[in-house]
Amino acid sequence: MIARVKGWFARIPGDVRILVVGLLLIAPLKWLQTDNLRWMSVDGGYYTEVARHVRDGLGLTTNVSLDNFGYESFPHPTSVYPLWPMLLGLIGKLVELNEAAHWVPAILYFVAVIGAFLFGRRLHPESILRDSGLPVHGGHVAAVLLGFNRQFVVYTSLPYTEGLSWALLFFFFWRLTKKSAVTSVGWGVEMGVWLSLLCFARSQFVVIPMAVGGALALRTVAGPDRARWLRTGAIAFVILGVSLALWLAHLRTFLVDAGPLSYLRFDQNRASTLLSDFDVIVEDQGVLDALTDRLSGFGTAYSVDSSRSWHASFGAANWALPVAAVVALFSIRRPGAGWWRQPLVFVRAENGVLRMAALLFAIGGMASIQLAHKHFNGEWYFYRRQGMIAIFAFLLPLLWLFRRRGLPSLLAGGLLSTTLAMGTYEMIHQVVHAQNEAKGADKYASIVGWLKHNSSKKAPITVAFEEGTLQRIAWRTGNVGYHWLAATSPYSDVRAMFDKLGADYLIFSGSRRWAIYKAGGGRIEADFERLAERPSGFTILKPRSSPLPPPVSRKVLLIGVDGASWKVMGPMIARGELPTFRKLWTEGASQTEFNTIESTSSPVVWTTVATGRRPKDHGVTEYTEEVAGVGKVPVTSNSRKVPAIWNVASAAGKSVGVVNWWASWPAETVNGYVVSDHANPAAAGWMDGKYWSADPAALAAMQEDTWPKALAESLRSQWIDPKLFPKDDFLARSGLSAAQWGVVEQTPYNERTAYSWLKTFYTLDEPHVRIAIDKLKNDPKDVTMVYLRGPDPIQHYGWDLVEPSAYGTPPAELERDRGIVEGVYRFTDTFVGELIAAAGPDTTIIVHSDHGAEPCLDAIPAKSTARPGCHTRAAKGVFFMVGPGISPGMHLRGASPMDVMPTMAWLAGLPISNELPGRVLSEAFDWDYAGRFGRTDVESYGEREKVEAPTTASPADAQMLEQLRGLGYIQ
Ligand SMILES: [Zn+2]
Repeated sequence: MIARVKGWFARIPGDVRILVVGLLLIAPLKWLQTDNLRWMSVDGGYYTEVARHVRDGLGLTTNVSLDNFGYESFPHPTSVYPLWPMLLGLIGKLVELNEAAHWVPAILYFVAVIGAFLFGRRLHPESILRDSGLPVHGGHVAAVLLGFNRQFVVYTSLPYTEGLSWALLFFFFWRLTKKSAVTSVGWGVEMGVWLSLLCFARSQFVVIPMAVGGALALRTVAGPDRARWLRTGAIAFVILGVSLALWLAHLRTFLVDAGPLSYLRFDQNRASTLLSDFDVIVEDQGVLDALTDRLSGFGTAYSVDSSRSWHASFGAANWALPVAAVVALFSIRRPGAGWWRQPLVFVRAENGVLRMAALLFAIGGMASIQLAHKHFNGEWYFYRRQGMIAIFAFLLPLLWLFRRRGLPSLLAGGLLSTTLAMGTYEMIHQVVHAQNEAKGADKYASIVGWLKHNSSKKAPITVAFEEGTLQRIAWRTGNVGYHWLAATSPYSDVRAMFDKLGADYLIFSGSRRWAIYKAGGGRIEADFERLAERPSGFTILKPRSSPLPPPVSRKVLLIGVDGASWKVMGPMIARGELPTFRKLWTEGASQTEFNTIESTSSPVVWTTVATGRRPKDHGVTEYTEEVAGVGKVPVTSNSRKVPAIWNVASAAGKSVGVVNWWASWPAETVNGYVVSDHANPAAAGWMDGKYWSADPAALAAMQEDTWPKALAESLRSQWIDPKLFPKDDFLARSGLSAAQWGVVEQTPYNERTAYSWLKTFYTLDEPHVRIAIDKLKNDPKDVTMVYLRGPDPIQHYGWDLVEPSAYGTPPAELERDRGIVEGVYRFTDTFVGELIAAAGPDTTIIVHSDHGAEPCLDAIPAKSTARPGCHTRAAKGVFFMVGPGISPGMHLRGASPMDVMPTMAWLAGLPISNELPGRVLSEAFDWDYAGRFGRTDVESYGEREKVEAPTTASPADAQMLEQLRGLGYIQ
């Protein structure tokens, strides 16, 4: 037996023997690599999706509407180049399609490499190792160049067109090597069939008929036998033309405005004009700019950045082109007379048509990538499978270099060996790597299950998808139609998918969870903007139904901490301080650069938090308001034009508790309690005329500080007597030094200094925390909101202690005062920790600030006496959310104060108004958990209930109301 194999092996020619040995060495690697990529059968790819329909006798149809196709029903005829999906579909009738989708391309890999060998041998039959006597020639060079092209290796283990396409390409050129001088009718017909097949295998291959056509045209011009050459070419191109015309006629049956470009760019073909145009290629301003832009791509093509350049797919063979160019430059001779006839002489030689066609294909392939193929996001990617079409642009110079003795030949040998070595390494690497990849294979299980569940009720359902994941999901779910929504799709397209194309859901994909939007939900627009910014985030907003019972508890505790910034918090957590915030950060979902809104004024932002509305809509746009008989006070709840969450919750029969929220005085009637921002006498003291002109006695007389009113009396014992500042408690929580305490002690309340604010606002925050803890424990509500002044006032007057280097003049007592801002974070951390503990483990906790802090620009020069700390929109805040179902360590992106209200409403089971510009931050939750939350959307929360009683029984009431009416605040 062995002897027989040996005998058989001995009979085959030496050069083939070398190829066979090479292929036998590669075979196990290729087998392992393909086997390891079989997990991607869940991918399927667009082609497998079409192949499935072919297999099932449904023809070239698809359930996937790519980009802007705008299919209105599924399955729908597809315009994708048909050869590969047809072949795969037919094979799928014989063997399991999933398996065929991997193993057929792998077999075609070897077929194509053999084709490359046959072609290369004809092109360059001489040994490239002249002195060794080994029969290694152009065939081996071509086989190495194709067989070790990284893209080719990868895509011939997946259900894509490359295996079939490059096999056809090399066998066609191999046939051309035999028939280069033939002008028979038969060859014309055969050539026409080959060219048609190539174009149906991959529309990119339209470059091949162009190259062949160019060579034939030159040969015809060069003569002799012009008529015969013309006839041969004409036959071939008539056949190609008829094939393409038939295909075009087919496309016209289901495409709007089908034309020649519909063949070239199947990804831009449209069944309706409902969706906007989708440009894959970046538009340039004018021809010159376009050329400049494309020429600049040369830098990328040969850059060391192997994630973009030729280098990584071609090993080193791509360097053959510049090396050959340099060698050619040195060997250039002055052109003699009639030099322009050289191409005609060249094409007339033996194998001239083949060589010219190969040359034109090399130039055309390279140029088509350089000029036409630029990724839609504006990045160059030569290192992609589309770039494989440039293979002749590297193969031909390599062979040309091998023809020349001395250095060029040596260089070519070096490049080829490098390609061989890199390719082998890459193959081994892939075998190892794919096994790790396989671990992520089942990340689509949840969404596929969800879709299957829903499509079983109403089939097929239609889903709009972000690009990328669609194919995998399409393949696994079967009877579900998809619109492929690109990352660049405008919102109007999303709407059209729902309103006109019958999509039931919009689903955004990401690395961890899914965003699902239901048709008819009015809140997609705002979310869409944000989702577009962060394609890796996702949310389930509205499952079709909630088959599971809702969670037992939907309690929410919101803690607002004014001015808290990661700039202070981050380093402290890194040092092991702030245990509560560290826990929130590691165990919850967070955003350490929480956005601000158009205003960073406290009452404005915190009213946005409470209402979910923009300032212009909620009506609280300033710090102050004049209240008749009382004076100028921080803006009151009467200014608010829209319902706050406490109104919405009360109306929905949910209970609420509100402590110290901005603009919550006079306390409104709610289903629960309100401790308004005026309730604490320290607030009145703070309003003693220095900053606002309110009369504390008049304020107190109104008894509108709390709801229910009786609550005010029971809170009396909670407030801090200014003369009895709780020193021990303060020092234990803040960790301030003895020297710092000395300053605190001597500093009066309500002065414009960091120390005074430290003291003043501690007497505000600390009692509020105690009251809220007592309520959380003994009178828990569905929604509780506690506002803490937190670090903001101290940062305004002490930010130079945090960032001293940013200022022209460092703070006078830097050594003594350093750390007092951090002291506020410390005591706030203890407050937040105690509040969370009181709320219990089944409550969702949201802790966030409205902005951070930064140096005031006018405080930076040395002479300025302005306060040092400011907050513009650039000063980002922090956001933390922790509780049942929330993914630990999840980092949110793009969230803003506008999102707090809808998120709280969703958690608490309140309706969500379409007027809210923000979104539910449901991407923070486990899909299974979030799926149990229903969601009710309403057009509007309505107008705010009319304020029944005037704020105070003052003779000036009528006048005040008239003023408010005049301002348009009330009706
Ligand atoms: Zn603020």
